[in-house]
This record gives sequence, C-alpha cells and structure tokens, in this order.
Amino acid sequence: MSELRVIAIDGPAGSGKSTVARAVADRLGLDYLDTGAMYRAVACAALRRGVDPGDVDAVAEVARSIDLDLTRDACVVDGVDATTDIRGPEVTGAVSVVAANPGVRVEMVARQRAWATERGGGVMEGRDIGSVVFPDAELKVYLTASAEVRARRRAGEAGGLDVVSVGADIDRRDAADSGRETSPLVEAPGAVVLDTSELGVDEVADRVVGLLG
Ligand code: C5P
Repeated sequence: MSELRVIAIDGPAGSGKSTVARAVADRLGLDYLDTGAMYRAVACAALRRGVDPGDVDAVAEVARSIDLDLTRDACVVDGVDATTDIRGPEVTGAVSVVAANPGVRVEMVARQRAWATERGGGVMEGRDIGSVVFPDAELKVYLTASAEVRARRRAGEAGGLDVVSVGADIDRRDAADSGRETSPLVEAPGAVVLDTSELGVDEVADRVVGLLG
C-alpha cells in the first residue's frame, strides 16, 4: 500500500474538501476521487429501487450490486445519469444512514482501495480516508472551517439556498457522521489540520502541496 501516492483529504461538509482536493490533484497531476459521491450514489440507487435507506441488509446488497461510473464531472449509477440527483435533497436526507451501514462501508472502502491501486494513487477526499481507507497515505489533511462559513459555502454552491436551513442540515449530517459507530469522522492520527475559514482555495492548495516537501 505504501508504494501508492495517496493524498487523503478529510473533513466535515463545507470545509472546502472538494474544491481543494481538485486543485491539489491538478497541481500534482494525480486523479481525484470524491468518496462522498460514492455514498450518495448508493443512497440514490436505494431510493430508485424503492429500498428503505434504513434497511441494513437490503442497502448493503444495493452497495454490492451497483454499477458505479464516477468521474470528476459525472456520476452514472446503473447506466443512468445521477449527477444532479446525488446532490438533491432526497439523497442528502438519506445519505447519513446509508453511510453508517457497515456493509455499505466494507464495499465502498474496497472499491476506493481498488481505485487507488489501479492508478498508483490519487487525491481522495471524504471522512475516513486518512483514518481507515489509507492510514499510510503519503499526506493526510483534515480540513475544517467555522460552522457559519461552511453553511454559507454550501448554500452558495447549491444555488443560493437559505443559509439557516443549509446550516441545520450540515449540523445534522456532521453529528451523524461524527457519532456513528463505524468509521466516524475523526482527525486521523498524523493528519495536518487546516482551518480554511479565512483562506481561499489557492491558498489552501498551496499549503497542502507545500506539506509534501
Ligand atoms: O462529502 P459529502 O458531503 O458529499 O458526503 C456525503 C455523505 O457521505 C457524508 O455526510 C457522510 O455521511 C458520507 N461519507 C462517509 N465517508 C466518506 C465520504 C462521505 O461516510 N469517506
């Protein structure tokens, strides 16, 4: 595993992971994987198949059986485009319970490791990359930002949604992600913590690349 060049970027919703991870991947010429999109894709597939997101066995089976084609700009689930659906309110409402399902995590972690192995590494962003998926990553970064900044960012990304309701939604997901039994959101041992509240994307990306020495 150690011969892979993995840059792990974890943190809560709205901490800037996706934009920073993409910028870092571009600078280093590495591929980029949004692992949150994978959990969203499983939630989306469960909803499409009429499976209750809380049905642990059925959702784990959905995770094992989905055909997932995830690129930087698109997400295709079982041959049907899901790029917009995975960011919608139904999936966002269901994803925490899906991501807390141990059977789902086993399958997604295996796919994430396979993704990195196939290409010699990459920049991977999520909640448990540095703690579980690649604890030996070349660099582990934990991004954070104030609750207000995170809510404003997510509201802006979603096309000007109400900041208060977006903030409440982020709080709910953070509590679920941090409080779950399997692979909770934590600062991985050895991770460099960066507060992005006052920093632009380029500044954060500069610091991350600078940490590689
Ligand atoms: O990153 P994003 O907010 O799109 O992730 C959606 C959800 O997927 C998170 O709230 C979390 O429940 C789950 N997730 C996870 N582990 C990861 C990435 C995301 O549990 N590595």
